[in-house]
Amino acid sequence: MPLPFRRELPQQSASSGISASSRPDDRNLPKSATEKHGSDLYPELKELMLRNQRWAKRVGSADPGFFPRHYPGQRPEILWIGCSDARVPETTIMGSQPGDIFVHRGIANLYSPSDDSLNAVLMIALINFKVKHIIVAGHSNCVGCQTALRASNLPPVPETQAIQRYLKPLTVLARAMATEDGPPSLDLLVEENVQQQVRNLLASQVVQDDWKRRAEYGVTVHGWVYQLENGTVRDLGVSQGPPGAKPGGSRMGPRLF
Ligand SMILES: [Zn+2]
Repeated sequence: MPLPFRRELPQQSASSGISASSRPDDRNLPKSATEKHGSDLYPELKELMLRNQRWAKRVGSADPGFFPRHYPGQRPEILWIGCSDARVPETTIMGSQPGDIFVHRGIANLYSPSDDSLNAVLMIALINFKVKHIIVAGHSNCVGCQTALRASNLPPVPETQAIQRYLKPLTVLARAMATEDGPPSLDLLVEENVQQQVRNLLASQVVQDDWKRRAEYGVTVHGWVYQLENGTVRDLGVSQGPPGAKPGGSRMGPRLF
């Protein structure tokens, strides 16, 4: 199989893929907040830009090597597949730093084999970065799960809108979980959805290919739920790695590429 972006990611595949010709210079650095740009016309964007400038200054002052160190490339060990929900920013809630976590977020943290946006992220994560862990992270009170749960209580209708098409597998799951006592609780659907996405990923070509390439050093897939109520993450205990994997052991393995 061709290795995607291998040539575009020089230096042991740990680069961000930014070529020397696109190296930012002073023209791209933040301008003074007193200058007029488009964002000045919108107070909420102006505030965001000011926060960014304060953040960059604070981080650069505390650790002058931070930005120079990050510019050449990234080497995350974790791929986070989470929900788009603004309340669940993975780097913040996991107490992590830029560069720690490779990310794909979409409504209700879904994965399907036809999702080439996520397939591409998976390939980069597994082939280029050789991440050790994929974490499927759902969260309580997920609006995507709420929407699917509501739709599952109604007679099926043609999926004419993108959100209906996108959530269809989740709606089907919610419908399948209904019992004579009624539909599943939202909390139960959130958990089952995470477990279903873990199963989908384990069965995916891209994970199966990773296990062939890396054997017992291949990626392990985990299912977690973030509790909005108190900010903690719960491990659902559904982790699965390749045959012969030794949990907790060194997973670096031989460099194959
Ligand atoms: Zn959500």
